[in-house]
Amino acid sequence: MITLKFGGTSMANAQRMISAMHIMESRLNEQRISVVVSAVAGVSNLLQESITGAIASTNITPFIIKIIQIHHEICTDIEKQIPSFMIKNVQEKLQTHFDEYEKLLRAVATFGECPLSIYCRIMGIGELLSSIIIEQLLLAKQKKVILLDSRQFIFTSGNQSEGDPLYEKTDLHFIPYRDDQSKAKFDLLLFPGFICSWVSPDESVHMGLLGRNGSDFSAAIIASALNAQKLEIWSDVDGIFSADPRIVKDAILIEKMTYEEAMELSFFGSKVLHPKTLSPLIAKNIETWSLNSHNIQAKGTLIGKGPFETQGHHVCGISCLKDTAMISVLGSGLKGKKGIAARIFSAVSRAGISILLITQSSSEYTISFCVLQKQANHCKDALINEFDLEIKTGIILPIAIEENTAIVSIVGDGMKAKRGVAGRFFNALASSDINLLAIAQGSSERSISCVIKGNDGDVAVRSAHQFFFNTNQI
Ligand code: ADP
Ligand code: MG
Repeated sequence: MITLKFGGTSMANAQRMISAMHIMESRLNEQRISVVVSAVAGVSNLLQESITGAIASTNITPFIIKIIQIHHEICTDIEKQIPSFMIKNVQEKLQTHFDEYEKLLRAVATFGECPLSIYCRIMGIGELLSSIIIEQLLLAKQKKVILLDSRQFIFTSGNQSEGDPLYEKTDLHFIPYRDDQSKAKFDLLLFPGFICSWVSPDESVHMGLLGRNGSDFSAAIIASALNAQKLEIWSDVDGIFSADPRIVKDAILIEKMTYEEAMELSFFGSKVLHPKTLSPLIAKNIETWSLNSHNIQAKGTLIGKGPFETQGHHVCGISCLKDTAMISVLGSGLKGKKGIAARIFSAVSRAGISILLITQSSSEYTISFCVLQKQANHCKDALINEFDLEIKTGIILPIAIEENTAIVSIVGDGMKAKRGVAGRFFNALASSDINLLAIAQGSSERSISCVIKGNDGDVAVRSAHQFFFNTNQI
């Protein structure tokens, strides 16, 4: 069994879907496969916009028409090329979801709000729609495909729209479909990505999601639960590059990287992989490939246990996480006083906010950390609440937020053994006149991150890339 994941970029139109189908066919000649698909490119964003629009009581009909149109156009284009594609069957199945979408969106518009459970149901429609088209495409090619509803297999807890898998419960549902089990006769298991079932604290089960761009995570969970030998993540780039190729034109393709390097890069903003993807794969040492469905000849990037040769570079990648904010807690109350840091972090965690990076000044006078910009005010409120008394008495100063920051990180297993890497990074940023707001090193010594102003993000990445990879960006 191998698992293949096709992102939105591989589901963008009829041609891309047909190419994806050919890739599935070629793998299927060799072994059983499980396939995870994302929504058609742009659909998740459109669904998100439609929710925002409905809350603001803008006319929702254009959104519904657009969603229907995108999918119908793909179906008619496929039918032109593959006459055995049963368009009527597909359209009937799609219609059920269009109706559901309209019903939910009207409710949001009527009430002017979108509770999380409705949000999950609307956002998950994109994957339900695309998987129906792919199923029919495979049936048209006489493949023995079974479309399985991921909500009956993947269970999460925690945040409903960004859940943490309940691995034991999830595994139990997948076991019958493993190679040596009763349902191994199904050669091609197809799953919509992103969606799952969420088990609430009162044990009731609702539709949940795995976080934006969560299909990579779905694929990792499925590969792990099915004991797959390999996971292939098909996207629109030749693999993982030393930096986002959209920002750095001559970024270098990385042949091999360790799970930890990939994890760090994705955590710090490389969109090519969803940050939580790696942990289920590490646990079972599942060989993972980042591949290009628009260029199947490209070798791709292997992500594995390593250690791998560094291709002469101690840094394997540079990433940038935008739309963050830096929050600082400062005041004489912090110095030498036990437990303040613990109180800060537990208050933030109770508010359901994840911390991206932490630094402390050597005088112990300030603790700064970064969170997503959209959570910054909520985070500030949580801290004001926690330190109400200390702020009133002046031993802690009013909580400061530096809005719209970016975190630029250099990542590489080889950094540990090489001196002067940090210095070179800071020089790179200084040479472009970029002001450093804070610096942090990952405890694994596998990454160094700098917090800078959001607008400087792209320049910082290009400048660091030039210093570490000798390319001519500036
Ligand atoms: P998919 O829809 O297939 O999941 P994404 O758009 O989520 O595709 O991810 C692919 C994109 O990730 C690429 O088009 C590329 O611009 C971006 N990207 C960011 N950082 C990197 C990197 N280091 N290497 C390769 N691609 C990257
Ligand atoms: Mg993606």
